[in-house]
Amino acid sequence: MKDCIFCKIVAKEIPNYTVYEDNHVLAFLDIHPRTKGHTIVIPKVHAETIFDLNEEIAKDLLPSVKKTAERIEHVLQPDGYNIGWNHGDAGGQDVPHLHIHILPRWEGDGGTNMHGIIHNPGAMNVDDVAKLFV
Ligand code: AMP
Ligand code: ZN
Repeated sequence: MKDCIFCKIVAKEIPNYTVYEDNHVLAFLDIHPRTKGHTIVIPKVHAETIFDLNEEIAKDLLPSVKKTAERIEHVLQPDGYNIGWNHGDAGGQDVPHLHIHILPRWEGDGGTNMHGIIHNPGAMNVDDVAKLFV
């Protein structure tokens, strides 16, 4: 998409530090890293969120995230990872082109886990929420 910063990276109009690339996916270092080796994995086609992504490309995404993480594992040997994405305004998504963050983690690095993002379960108990899915 014309004004999308990540589409511009795919089109090589903006430079990137590539970590991994295949036909459908580009992975590059986050310009404002939260940890050493913080990497972003994007589908090369524009899709704002996972709901907008073509099924075929969606199928390729996890294998490509795995390959990217294997590359990071080989080069940086972190102790662990947080892998995930921000979806929509409420989820804290700034760039409207689906991207998976890979955050390499080290023992004692002072970070937390994904539970640290939010703790506001609301008034409904789990049983009642489960009934909505039946
Ligand atoms: P999000 O809040 O999930 O949308 O995160 C967007 C991420 O993209 C942020 O971590 C930014 O640091 C990163 N970012 C924005 N522009 C660039 C760029 N040109 N190259 C690499 N990373 C970028
Ligand atoms: Zn885009």
